[in-house]
Amino acid sequence: MKKYAVKLSLSRLEKEKITVDGSFDEGFLDLGNDDFISVKSSVNYNFEAELHASGVVIRGSASVRIGGECGRCLKEVEQDVSTDYTLFIDELGNSDEIDVSEDIREELLLAFPANILCSDDCKGLCPVCGTDLNKKNCPCSNNAPAAPSPWDKLDELGK
Ligand SMILES: [Zn+2]
Ligand SMILES: [Zn+2]
Repeated sequence: MKKYAVKLSLSRLEKEKITVDGSFDEGFLDLGNDDFISVKSSVNYNFEAELHASGVVIRGSASVRIGGECGRCLKEVEQDVSTDYTLFIDELGNSDEIDVSEDIREELLLAFPANILCSDDCKGLCPVCGTDLNKKNCPCSNNAPAAPSPWDKLDELGK
């Protein structure tokens, strides 16, 4: 028995559109051992399902709040993720019911950011001393996190 299911009755869809509005607890996303992202709210979803000759069309949205470390400065941040989706389900099987929970889950996971940032212009940590450059500057390199330039060597030779 699956804990999370969003079931639609095909016989009911034959008669009318179905509008669904619901939420699941954070376990729904099943992120497993993802240490980088945690789920901070329940998952909300809503959609409208309509039966067409060749399958069921589902249009809706889903949202959740997630948290994790800023990819640059490691500060803990939270952000909202939401997505609008259109699903087309043409493998209806033999049962009267279809379960679209997995489809909704996948759509929402696709909307997750590759990188969580505390802000788009986060300056990050100094790669040398680890100072949070959003808070203060450090003496390391005038905060140009530059790759060593070939000219550095020449400069040293000239000394
Ligand atoms: Zn940051
Ligand atoms: Zn530094």
